[in-house]
Amino acid sequence: MSAPLTTTDAVRSAVRAFIEAEYDEGRALTDWLNVLVDSGWAVPTWPTEWFGHGLAPDLAASAYEEFAAVGAPGPPSGLAVMLAAPTIIAHGTEEQKQRFVRPVLVGDEAWCQLFSEPAAGSDLAGLKTRAELDGDEYVINGQKVWTSGAHYADFGMLLARTDVDAPKHRGITYFALPMAQPGIEVRPLRQMTGDALFAEVFMTDVRVPAANIIGELNGGWGVGNTTLSNERVGLGAGSSLSFPVATPGGRRLATQREGSIAELKARVRGVVSPRPTSAGGAAMIGAGAGPLIKLASDTGRGDEPAVRQQLARLHALNQLNRWNGLRGRAAIKAGGRPGPEASLGKLMTSHISRAWRDTAATIAGPQSLLAGGDGLLNGTVEIQMLAAPGPSIYGGSDQVQRNIIGERVLGLPREPDVSKNVPFRELTVGTQSKESTS
Ligand SMILES: Cc1cc2nc3c(=O)[nH]c(=O)nc-3n(C[C@H](O)[C@H](O)[C@H](O)COP(=O)(O)OP(=O)(O)OC[C@H]3O[C@@H](n4cnc5c(N)ncnc54)[C@H](O)[C@@H]3O)c2cc1C
Repeated sequence: MSAPLTTTDAVRSAVRAFIEAEYDEGRALTDWLNVLVDSGWAVPTWPTEWFGHGLAPDLAASAYEEFAAVGAPGPPSGLAVMLAAPTIIAHGTEEQKQRFVRPVLVGDEAWCQLFSEPAAGSDLAGLKTRAELDGDEYVINGQKVWTSGAHYADFGMLLARTDVDAPKHRGITYFALPMAQPGIEVRPLRQMTGDALFAEVFMTDVRVPAANIIGELNGGWGVGNTTLSNERVGLGAGSSLSFPVATPGGRRLATQREGSIAELKARVRGVVSPRPTSAGGAAMIGAGAGPLIKLASDTGRGDEPAVRQQLARLHALNQLNRWNGLRGRAAIKAGGRPGPEASLGKLMTSHISRAWRDTAATIAGPQSLLAGGDGLLNGTVEIQMLAAPGPSIYGGSDQVQRNIIGERVLGLPREPDVSKNVPFRELTVGTQSKESTS
């Protein structure tokens, strides 16, 4: 019988034995993913009944190191695994968990997050998208914006207003919205990096079964907060708790899951050339100071005190954030939900993103503006010059994180909100008038 997974040694030897028995780069990728998910190693911190081993984050980190040693691909890295599945595990019915969790881990279904609206970003509870009951379905009308990966998603984590007579936080419901249906129009938005990784989503008479409500009717604010807390943990922790290669998820990317593990890895390496996307820039946050230490050394600037100080600061910030991320995941494991350290990590990630950009600019000077194949680190430096502000906005802006830290960590008085107890239909939200909510 194998040893209980309570020590680093036990975890490492269990993972090594699993790799020895199952990992073969000639193996079909989908076959590997299924075995990985069933083994509990795809998401080792998740509960044992939902494809995990219930491991503490420090033990899980050892497992990931073993997979990194062989470069093994893991489940998709997108919002389905980071946000949708943990939210459904926390709030969904047994039937919903059975239906939705496994398909995201094996890559069959991708999700997007339909939260933000043109007049509801930081003030998310002001959202206006409406859901009205028609038989055993709800009919959705409204617009979302900045929806990352909407064009690849099979389902959307949709927050919609189901009661305009209730105060704004109490009339919202959380739905699992099927994206492939008439009435959903996804219009990509181009970022200043040149990529279009997010989109506007227009919904006109779109339908969703009442059975797809996650949590309670009008209880969507609490469910949405589980998603947001997981987002702060996921974005704030960098890449310390993940596989070295993520599998492309969703039906639209099904062809990218065809073939062997080796073919996927070759494709992933190919994507980095000739120009990485801003997602590649964001990945630099998790990559830490390593690539820049090499860049300083390659360009002969590794002995300069100013460069060394910036590199040391970047390394220290990364290490601190990694430990904070482990602390955040330990809080999830202990209490079932992320604690306020998640906001510290999210805020730190914004700092690290800017520190990475500034350190790269110090080392490379004007060359940091060269793009694509001409650029440094295969163009990633230039991408990060443009992508660095992103983390200060997505997943809740820096200012909003500071509000959360002030209120929930430091115990400062809550931010006043005069609209909190007023029926939503009486509020002026964006361009909303009384007519538009009636
Ligand atoms: C790359 C990227 C990807 C994204 N992906 C998604 C996604 O997949 N799904 C999704 O739903 N959304 C997504 N977003 C949207 C993101 O969550 C919002 O942009 C963010 O919450 C801010 O909302 P806003 O843009 O409406 O700005 P606003 O809320 O209008 O804020 C404007 C400014 O006012 C400040 N501010 C607002 N309220 C307060 C306050 N109470 N106290 C102090 N300062 C305040 C903000 O910090 C900000 O500086 C994404 C954004 C980006 C940049």
